[in-house]
Amino acid sequence: MNRHEKSVLNQHPCFNRAAARWFTHIHLPVASGCNIKCNYCSRKFDCVNENAPGFITKTISPREALKKVHNMMRQDVRLRVVGVAGPGEALADKETMDTLSMLHSCYPNLIKCISTNGLMLEESLDLLQEFGVKTVTVTVNAIDPDIARKIYGWVFYKNKPHYGFAGASLLIDKQIAGIREANSRGILVKVNTVLIPGINDIHLKQVAITVRKAGAFVMNVIPLVPQAEFSLLPAPSGKMLYKTRRELAPVIRQTDCREQCLQDMRKIYC
Ligand code: SF4
Ligand code: SF4
Repeated sequence: MNRHEKSVLNQHPCFNRAAARWFTHIHLPVASGCNIKCNYCSRKFDCVNENAPGFITKTISPREALKKVHNMMRQDVRLRVVGVAGPGEALADKETMDTLSMLHSCYPNLIKCISTNGLMLEESLDLLQEFGVKTVTVTVNAIDPDIARKIYGWVFYKNKPHYGFAGASLLIDKQIAGIREANSRGILVKVNTVLIPGINDIHLKQVAITVRKAGAFVMNVIPLVPQAEFSLLPAPSGKMLYKTRRELAPVIRQTDCREQCLQDMRKIYC
């Protein structure tokens, strides 16, 4: 890790617990669309990958987002990170890039962060880098298409829907390629993984090994909140979550950003 990456790590509350004592982050809800269907997601609410189900964020325009940052910068000298994490998929909407572009010209030193399902990550990296994105979170729930096909209803890529095994394989390939390329460009990658009992619980070690090899820095295992197609599945117990994190820790550093993300009263997942 070079000096710049270390400096980002030292200031990012979601990548580094210690940083949460000194620095804060905010989110700009500019992205409303999505390009995949996660079976644990009800699009009535925010992107489950980063937000608490049950919350609905009103989308704001890139200009409103910039105004929000101007106001926050005046009120909070500890603000270091600005994230785009929904309410849909950050890279499915042009508004994300418009926002990051304006933000970067006004505040080049703020750390820009996005959360994504990874489908469009690799091909978005040139722009993300140009607009100063230094950290990304990619939600990877499975690296075996036979497991992933149970988690995703469809994947919409290049104007075409992809279903079943083909859709799942496409998404996994794109996620891993995106993580690898982001890492090679010096962007710090966190992986979120939703722990889904009976679906991917015994598969998470393979996920951890694969994302670590691709260059992910840290992993955040998130307990499933049963809703949408998965509303009848059980939520993992605290014990199961703890055990899973403990088993994965030797493979890749584990984090639980819950406390930090509660600071803005909506983010409990990232
Ligand atoms: Fe929902 Fe986020 Fe999955 Fe899209 S990527 S379906 S918004 S959880
Ligand atoms: Fe937001 Fe997630 Fe980035 Fe933290 S890691 S700033 S919660 S998008």
